[in-house]
Amino acid sequence: MSFTSLGLSRSLLNAIKDQKITKPFPIQEQAIPAVLQGKDVMGIAKTGSGKTASYVLPILDDLQKNPSTKNRHVNVLVLVPTRELAVQVKDVFQQFGTSLPERIKTLAVYGGVSINPQMQALNHVNVLVATPGRLLDLVESNAVHLSEIKTLVIDEADKMLSMGFKDEVDRIFKLIPKKRQNLLFSATLNEDIDSINQWILKEPVLIRIEEEKDSIELIKQLGYWVSEEKKGPLLRYLIKNGDLKQVLVFTASTYKADNVADKLRKNGIDASAIHSKKSQTARLDSLARFKAGTLRVLVTTDLLARGIDIEFLPHVINYELPRSPKDYIHRIGRTGRAESPGDAISLITPEDKHHFKVIQKKMKKWVDMVDSEHLNLKG
Ligand code: AMP
Repeated sequence: MSFTSLGLSRSLLNAIKDQKITKPFPIQEQAIPAVLQGKDVMGIAKTGSGKTASYVLPILDDLQKNPSTKNRHVNVLVLVPTRELAVQVKDVFQQFGTSLPERIKTLAVYGGVSINPQMQALNHVNVLVATPGRLLDLVESNAVHLSEIKTLVIDEADKMLSMGFKDEVDRIFKLIPKKRQNLLFSATLNEDIDSINQWILKEPVLIRIEEEKDSIELIKQLGYWVSEEKKGPLLRYLIKNGDLKQVLVFTASTYKADNVADKLRKNGIDASAIHSKKSQTARLDSLARFKAGTLRVLVTTDLLARGIDIEFLPHVINYELPRSPKDYIHRIGRTGRAESPGDAISLITPEDKHHFKVIQKKMKKWVDMVDSEHLNLKG
């Protein structure tokens, strides 16, 4: 299938061509026609599936025909859980929007930075990408009005709820017109997501992209038996000996993320930690360097990692296991994208043995284990 059969207008098809994208991803094949027809959509798909373009393209198409008129009254609102995702989504709107005849202004707003520049930038914005708390602040200061919203997108809805944004999101629902189009995207479908579905979506087209299993088949997984105190040396050994160039390392806590990154740097490996306690500027800077390939190791926790969108991530190392098997699958799923095989390594202490077994059972795949005892970790 090609993009031409999905109902997009000529100017959008040209914009897609400009981006050298030739074939729609499955979620795009299903979501684009539904969104163009004004239907509500519930997309169960994770980062990497192409979900962002699946709503950005039809929304831009509609805005070409019906651009907003009133200043400070946005027509499209995209709610996202993190600043990183806000910036990424805005970038996709801009990427496809630059060559369109009707100029579309997209702005990303998020907390942790000064509100004043955002207030000023809200002039004649068509698409607002926002984290919930900052959006409410901006509404309260009359910097933006939500009464003309035609389309509401909730991206990474599951993460939004797990990060505790439920109350804010509920307040936002009450501020926007009842008659609107709703597009909800979530990596998983659980009870909470279903309750939002029941509340706001009207007969949604349900799209499920079950790509995790396929991508898992593409990933070379390996586990290393290791004691807690040898984890640091083993991590350095794996990075240095394997000559790994772009490695995403997961820890269970922000404290540990800092600690692991510090130790790597002390041993001459360029590493940086990103987590919720870092400043916005520091987070964006590390992410940009990591994406550009100039930062070798990025250490992070589950909370922030889902928004990291890198086309091909060759190596993921679980320095510590996540609690849920689902998070494990999300973590390693980042390496098996776009049919490029990657590898995922997990450092397993004797205490992790049972939990790792549970994860493998859920994943329906057994991971080969290596004993690190005989490795020369001193080198
Ligand atoms: P997403 O799931 O929206 O984060 O997208 C994942 C990545 O896939 C992004 O880097 C997109 O630029 C890329 N992408 C999205 N749609 C396509 C497509 N149809 N063909 C190739 N790459 C795409």
